[in-house]
Amino acid sequence: MKKNKIIIANMKMNGSLSFNETYLTTIKDKFNKFKNLSIGLCLPYPYLFQAKKILAGTKIRWGSQNVAKFENGAHTGEVSAAMLKEFDNKYVIVGHSERSTAYCESDENIADKFEKIKKYKMTPVLCVGETLIEREAGIMERVISSQIDAIVKIYGAEIFEDSIVAYEPIWAIGSDMAATPEQVNKMCNFIKDYIYKDYKSDFLNLNIIYGGSVNSKNAVQLFASESLDGVLIGRASVNIDEFTQICSTAENS
Ligand code: PEP
Repeated sequence: MKKNKIIIANMKMNGSLSFNETYLTTIKDKFNKFKNLSIGLCLPYPYLFQAKKILAGTKIRWGSQNVAKFENGAHTGEVSAAMLKEFDNKYVIVGHSERSTAYCESDENIADKFEKIKKYKMTPVLCVGETLIEREAGIMERVISSQIDAIVKIYGAEIFEDSIVAYEPIWAIGSDMAATPEQVNKMCNFIKDYIYKDYKSDFLNLNIIYGGSVNSKNAVQLFASESLDGVLIGRASVNIDEFTQICSTAENS
């Protein structure tokens, strides 16, 4: 049976109550036609209640762009996995390079966040990827394996069951320089094989998606690749026409 393609929107720090009202209502009304897609909209925290209010009862799910690594307590400004769960949050983006760079997030922090997301039965969208310097040095596999190892070392490969890993080369994010389908294919296969090698059971519901300057034009070639389970879309996700076009391409691929 053909798997649904996964479409995750990273809306970043965009939106407002009024923008979201139109955006989410349009998605609710127009996106019913997509039968072969699993769509998740990752919004800023304050808007989760609005997503739940508008999208509850539809096939579209919502999510957040981060989570605390702690359960609760004296952690000013943090939001726990238990809190997210109260808003029926499904997806949690974790390890996004915009956070690791700006807030010096370590691989160990990311591992702890990943564990909290799983503990509260949400779906992590773990971002891994190399810088341009690392790609030019030909060490992208080494960089990504150490990002994955940080989680496997503490929690074992089994924690990747029902998870999403997004290959997000840092040089492709927000740059209009998407990776080529060949690069995406190679790295998605590498990530899948690397996680599977430590996994003891035959079946792992693990999806590998690609993120980095995905738009309606490059989506056509990207979705032609068999190894791609879906995409993580940043800027293009807040443009409803562009987002609809990408979803139509995925639906028909
Ligand atoms: C992202 O932020 O995860 C992303 C993929 O951004 P963009 O699509 O804007 O490059």
